[in-house]
Amino acid sequence: MSKKDKSIEQVNWHSLSIDQVVDKLRVDQNGLVDQEAQQRLRTYGANRLPPTKTRGPLLRFLAQFHNLLIYVLIGAAVVTALLDHWVDTYVIIAVVLVNSIIGFVQEGKAEKALEAIRHMLAPRATVLRNGHRIGIPAENLVPGDIVMLEPGDKVPADLRLLSAKGLQIQEAVLTGESVAVEKSAEAVEANVALGDRFSMAYSGTLVAAGHGKAVVVATGGKTEIGRISGMISSIEAITTPLLKQISVFSRWLTMAILLIAGSVFAFGFYVQGADPSVMFMTVVGLAVAAIPEGLPAILTVTLAIGVQRMASRNAIIRRLPAVETLGAVSIIASDKTGTLTRNEMTVKSIVTSAKLYEISGVGYEPSGDFFSGGEHVAIAKRPILQLIVKMGALCNDSSLQQKGGLWIADGDPMEGALLAAAIKAGLDPADLQRQNARTDVIPFDAQHRFMATLNHDHKGHDFIIVKGAPERLIELCTLQRQQEDDVPINPAHWAGWIDQIASLGQRVLAIAYKPVEAGKTELNFSDLNDGLILLGLIGLIDPPRDEAIQAVEECRAAGIRVKMITGDHAATARAIAAQLHLKNHDDVLTGHELSEIGDDELIEVAARVDIFARTSPEHKLRLVTALQAGGKVVAMTGDGVNDAPALKRADVGIAMGRTGTEAAKEAAEMVLADDNFASIARAVREGRTVYDNLKKSILFLLPVNGGESMSIIATVLAGLTLPITPLQILWVNMVSSVALAMALAFEPSEPSIMQRRPRRKDESMLSGFLLWRISFVSLLFFAGIYGIFLWSQLHGSTLEEGRTYAVNTLVILEVFYLLNVRYLSGSSLSLRHLFGSKAVLIAIAVVITLQAIFTYAPFMEDFFDTRPIDFIHGLEIFGIGLALFFILELEKLIRRWLS
Ligand code: ADP
Ligand code: MG
Repeated sequence: MSKKDKSIEQVNWHSLSIDQVVDKLRVDQNGLVDQEAQQRLRTYGANRLPPTKTRGPLLRFLAQFHNLLIYVLIGAAVVTALLDHWVDTYVIIAVVLVNSIIGFVQEGKAEKALEAIRHMLAPRATVLRNGHRIGIPAENLVPGDIVMLEPGDKVPADLRLLSAKGLQIQEAVLTGESVAVEKSAEAVEANVALGDRFSMAYSGTLVAAGHGKAVVVATGGKTEIGRISGMISSIEAITTPLLKQISVFSRWLTMAILLIAGSVFAFGFYVQGADPSVMFMTVVGLAVAAIPEGLPAILTVTLAIGVQRMASRNAIIRRLPAVETLGAVSIIASDKTGTLTRNEMTVKSIVTSAKLYEISGVGYEPSGDFFSGGEHVAIAKRPILQLIVKMGALCNDSSLQQKGGLWIADGDPMEGALLAAAIKAGLDPADLQRQNARTDVIPFDAQHRFMATLNHDHKGHDFIIVKGAPERLIELCTLQRQQEDDVPINPAHWAGWIDQIASLGQRVLAIAYKPVEAGKTELNFSDLNDGLILLGLIGLIDPPRDEAIQAVEECRAAGIRVKMITGDHAATARAIAAQLHLKNHDDVLTGHELSEIGDDELIEVAARVDIFARTSPEHKLRLVTALQAGGKVVAMTGDGVNDAPALKRADVGIAMGRTGTEAAKEAAEMVLADDNFASIARAVREGRTVYDNLKKSILFLLPVNGGESMSIIATVLAGLTLPITPLQILWVNMVSSVALAMALAFEPSEPSIMQRRPRRKDESMLSGFLLWRISFVSLLFFAGIYGIFLWSQLHGSTLEEGRTYAVNTLVILEVFYLLNVRYLSGSSLSLRHLFGSKAVLIAIAVVITLQAIFTYAPFMEDFFDTRPIDFIHGLEIFGIGLALFFILELEKLIRRWLS
């Protein structure tokens, strides 16, 4: 298929036989060879949906003007032009432009940051290439590739099934039907509807159950979903409930201010008989002074920066509201294996019907020996031990590799550990697997908790191997191997051993086997019903992650309770929980016990117990629901397809990035790139920081508006001269304030952030504290501005000089207030707290430079009527700023003292 083969585009793949399909796509049993795949990738292009049309830069720029205040300002520009006040017109237009450019650039950055994060979630596919199963980025799939489907996979392209075993696919994205459809490899009629093409799997749909093998027939924009992608893809707005709330609030505020401005105009004009054109500009100034125009943009940027920070700490946000919710989380319910533990397993003990053996060695490095009662044992003389190790290596999908001197397991870590044990016993896993080829398999599933394979050797023996959770295997087995014989199973004997090994914190696995008649090719659940022989138990260690122990501790200080949910044995779970220092590491609730408890009682039990063992995914859903009913904000982790409902239900559903299925990721709000519990704790910390920073931005901007509007209203009511002209206010609000507030978006976490209790989910952002602070600071701003203006007027300064002092005082007050607001209740009075943030220092430097130009540059004098400031007045202005700073530090001190 070197030249683009147009003919494959209009084929009714679902009605062709497998032979015809394979023939047409020119592929065989072994899949494509690399070279051919690369060739086809060039011909057909990457398997990527055509990018959705986003707003172009021009449209995004124009959107900056779509704002009530900007309309008012444009109106003002027109009016001033009509009145021949051209300087005013230019200044208004220039300031509007500068403000829109800042907004445009920042919003662009925010969008780009989120886009980059979306790329981190690119899906992968398992394909057959050169006869090997490998994982590749789904983007590299080409027509003719043979793809393996497993539960939880997202179908990576349009596929024609070659084989299917219990395969069920949920096609809601295409058909709207949420019940999964049973698929098969049989061809169907040519003219059936999409939902009835049972021999096909379509890109973007989800594998709900079963397994399959299929060949790619269409990729990228040629897939069914690609054809309609224009219809379903939508750009997610950069917003969260809180941001929406605030933008509604600022819209109301704008309307109210316009009303007040209208009344002020009427008052000045009718009651005081002021000149209408002067009055008009005053009112425009009032509108500019009072409306927090920069606020929405700053909040958006704060949010985007938070998301970016989380991503750099391995927490990838899929849905933006989660950023906010994370800060309110009060329970983290986490998986154990791989999240709280390292998922680096080593076989430590093996139990047969007669004996316990211990195995030495660390990690996956296959060097170590077998011991019994401290004595070295020769494995050749222990047939059962040897058989256990051999079966463990055969009922296995992993491989061990040595990379740079380090041994690592490729695939399931537990299976990697079994391979290492086999090598320690002198076996060669690859050779074993060749000698005992696999005919069929029932893969591991957290629901049934075992894996089974059907194998045959060259001497015509066929046999089934089962490995899995010991209680399950004891149920399944009727016999156990004792010396050379198979005798009826003695469950009590094994139960004792299971408890003993598990209470050491080891994960316990049982291995069973059963010879079957020669020539058997298919393995079904019913084949496991009788005659299964239990060979023994295997105990593996999987130590907790050091950073998880610390993170649990951090969570505890932060008032967040950590709960562990695992499919493992109760005793194993308890031992690990103790090492992790979970709050309640004594009580364990098993999945079985959980099923017996009613919903009401579960609310109390779920709150008290921290360890849930032998659970299956449906228990997770009940747990989340119970915890939420108890008033908790729950973050919950998951990886399998069956975890999806619990992840959706949780306040923050967290999917595993490495081991998680696509189904879990789709259902989750957040994906953990490193599967590490510590990353959840860090995300919570960032979530709290974002919330703090949003609060700080609001707290910073509103008093500036408040102080300015008070000055104007007071002046008009008293019939005095304005201490700051409308144009000067425009300058301060749309240039200085925005530049300073932007720095708050980059604010790092306050040191005490993980020592506070979680915020209540229903807490209102505009709390009593916020309202008090805003009013108090507004008053101080008003006093500062008016104070210096009146003082200078009484001491012989000109009006222009007085106004220049007032504007600069306002900006200096902002600078000092910024330093103060960086710590909401903690002191800002230390070198680190004053100068610790680069963003703040840059913003201050920029604003002071701009202010110097504003004050001293001759052309600014033309526009803003400014006058140079002498040294003494400069000192006075600085002193006023300093005074504000100390007054507010005192306020914080008193508040800390009172609380
Ligand atoms: P966890 O929640 O700790 O990841 P799982 O549900 O993965 O627990 O596993 C539960 C039990 O199932 C394990 O204790 C083990 O006995 C068994 N098990 C886990 N993985 C496999 C596997 N790949 N093959 C067979 N049995 C397994
Ligand atoms: Mg697991």
